Amino acid sequence: MQEQVTVLYTAGDIRDRVRALGAGITREYAGRQPVLISVLKGGAMFHADLLRAIDLHASVDFMSISAYGEGSSGVVRIMKDLDRDIGGRDVIVVEDIVDTGLTLTYLLSALRARDPASLEVCALLDKSVRRITPIDIRYRGFDCPDQFVLGYGLDFDEIYRNLPFIVAVKDVGALSRNPAAFVSLLGPDGNAYR
Ligand code: 5GP
Repeated sequence: MQEQVTVLYTAGDIRDRVRALGAGITREYAGRQPVLISVLKGGAMFHADLLRAIDLHASVDFMSISAYGEGSSGVVRIMKDLDRDIGGRDVIVVEDIVDTGLTLTYLLSALRARDPASLEVCALLDKSVRRITPIDIRYRGFDCPDQFVLGYGLDFDEIYRNLPFIVAVKDVGALSRNPAAFVSLLGPDGNAYR
């Protein structure tokens, strides 16, 4: 297994980083009541942990989006919209990973049109070398190498979201041929990184 994936961030690395991000948000939003928007599904795990690291009167909302067709235009369809109006609110969009940035650029413009008091991004992973559209990521967990990653919310074919750590896959072709190729990481093979 070790030769096919690399552990980029252990559960402990993630825990420490999420606590630091939460402390930063707590400090910078003191006296305000931010709403943390989770972009389903990948961002849900990070969102839940980040929320518990924020010591403020914060609220949450959820959005689900899906790409139109196969291309990578960044144009997305909103599958589930927010429950509440964000007009006049301090909004933080919580994302698992920003890659080209196309999806998030589109989403931010849709949210900005609703007149929030402020709109910031908190992303656990930033694949900055892949960026096509510039995005100001106010809170960033890790600058992620240009590799396909799995775990802590990030999936392949809906598998691996429940890995408590994050791995980079060396041979994405092997994963495409057999999506369950690395499920043993969910058992004893992954215990060292929990
Ligand atoms: P972007 O529009 O920034 O290129 O795409 C962002 C989306 O692509 C993420 O929300 C995520 O769903 C997916 N994505 C990008 N890189 C990875 C990766 O390394 N692993 C996984 N599992 N998904 C990724």
